Amino acid sequence: MNGDLLTVFYDALLTLAYPQVCAVCGGSVERRKFGVACEACWSSTRIFNGAETICLKCGVPAPVEGSRCRRCDSQSFAAARAVGFYEGALRESVLLLKRQPHVSEHVETLITAVAMREPLNVSTRIVPVPLHSERMRTRGFNQASIIAHVLSKSLRLPLDDGSLWRVSSSEKYRAGLDAKGRHDTVAGAFEVRHPRLVENEAILLVDDVFTTGATVSACAEALNSAGARGVFVLTLARA
Ligand SMILES: [Zn+2]
Ligand SMILES: [Zn+2]
Repeated sequence: MNGDLLTVFYDALLTLAYPQVCAVCGGSVERRKFGVACEACWSSTRIFNGAETICLKCGVPAPVEGSRCRRCDSQSFAAARAVGFYEGALRESVLLLKRQPHVSEHVETLITAVAMREPLNVSTRIVPVPLHSERMRTRGFNQASIIAHVLSKSLRLPLDDGSLWRVSSSEKYRAGLDAKGRHDTVAGAFEVRHPRLVENEAILLVDDVFTTGATVSACAEALNSAGARGVFVLTLARA
């Protein structure tokens, strides 16, 4: 029996043992590699293929090719990219990752592809956005670290889970806070404890979702001050 056949056989056995319901449509997930959603729900989730017209810096879909949205001008990262939109199969994968420290084979393939494209492909070191220690205690793991770990293996780049720290717990989400307000609550919330490790490195900063960019920008600010050559943000989804 060859490897592929064995996988199909194993998937069939697993499906019998643990029937997996698609978290998006309620249908059945026939192949383990797709994780929480079925193949059809993955197909209808918008995934970036690298050919879209986006803001060259923050990655937001932009009206003009080769343009910048300008709303990201003050943000401290060099560029930000995501696997796709925060919807359907990708949204469910993000939500599951908050409960279970596991990334499906399909998500791994998708995120590795984005990391290997320009401009993120110059990265030399992977750093996850840290969780505050209180939240780390209640959740037990940092979902950004799980993604960073998977990328470190697939890209064969060093994982640095100890240089960047979240020092204040002021990042409590308040409804109605605008982008400026959110920036203020996360500014200064991060510090680099081992500057020599990030000095002159092109950092691949990893998180689950890109929303306003305030959190990753605050991280980038700390990493740049510590001597990083540049900070490239990679997230599973963008809201
Ligand atoms: Zn489905
Ligand atoms: Zn932009």
